[in-house]
Amino acid sequence: MAIERTFSMIKPDATKRNLTGAITKMLEDAGLRVVASKRVWMSRREAEGFYAVHKDRPFFGELVDTMTSGPTVVQVLEGENAILKNREIMGATNPEAAAEGTIRKTHALSIGENSVHGSDAPETAAQEIRYWFSDTEIVG
Ligand code: UDP
Repeated sequence: MAIERTFSMIKPDATKRNLTGAITKMLEDAGLRVVASKRVWMSRREAEGFYAVHKDRPFFGELVDTMTSGPTVVQVLEGENAILKNREIMGATNPEAAAEGTIRKTHALSIGENSVHGSDAPETAAQEIRYWFSDTEIVG
């Protein structure tokens, strides 16, 4: 299996509860390496652009409100099978359905405040990394 890169976010509900280190440790313990990281307080325009795929969904307004309610830590993670591995350690979107030991089961508050984001496929990973990072900010 080739080394892959994926895009991850530690969402405002988690940064507000001072969980950046705890969540990053769970990612690192799963074998993922943080090769880029920065803290951003995203604007509504940035949140709407990032989540444009969901713009017609009923939860879109609430999603943008939540994502702009505090700082987010955006990261690039690298490792074997990184995209799938990150999705596994994140757990299901709704924390009530997430498996024991996952980030969302351990830390998420609700489906809207579910602590982390992770790309779901190679195409979205490349697109999401490019949305937040320039090449020189990624140090493998
Ligand atoms: N979301 C929500 N309500 C829903 C579905 C999704 O608030 O009914 C939010 C939630 O924060 C989720 C994000 O929208 O993480 C993106 O949804 P997606 O289905 O892509 O889930 P994910 O890939 O984050 O597990």
